[in-house]
Amino acid sequence: MARNAETTGTSSTAVGRLSPAKVEQKIAEFHGRLKERGFKSTGQRDDIAAVFFELGRHVSAEELYDEVRKRNPHVGYATIYRTLKLLKECDLLYERHFDDAQARYEAAGEQHHDHFICERCGRIIEFKNDELERLQQVVARELGVALLRHKVELYGLCSDCRKSARN
Ligand SMILES: [Zn+2]
Ligand SMILES: [Zn+2]
Repeated sequence: MARNAETTGTSSTAVGRLSPAKVEQKIAEFHGRLKERGFKSTGQRDDIAAVFFELGRHVSAEELYDEVRKRNPHVGYATIYRTLKLLKECDLLYERHFDDAQARYEAAGEQHHDHFICERCGRIIEFKNDELERLQQVVARELGVALLRHKVELYGLCSDCRKSARN
């Protein structure tokens, strides 16, 4: 799963689907948090949340809609959108806006990571680099500011697209 480049200290993680047990756990969390916030869980919301967590990361609303319709053809686009908002309000997903302007959603995870986005094929690679994290603290110190959060987005050509660009 995790690949380490020793020389740089950069580790990349494959964008993975959640296991059925983990999906079930997330759905239970969703129910609990909806209740706390005075919302109801419904069959359609559950279907959407289950598909979202099964898919893993960086899905657009359109992609999610197509996948959910395979399971439940009665779900409308408005319900998809509303459920994504609810998952966000419940702190169970992050909304990302990469350069392609389309919002993408990923399950809120335990692990912080940053993103590389291929400008040709749209592939998204998650990575973490300890030195990059540490450098941000250096910058913050030099600026005299307190760092609360950050997002690093790198854009370029992924290794596959680099290969085909050379041919
Ligand atoms: Zn690519
Ligand atoms: Zn990500």
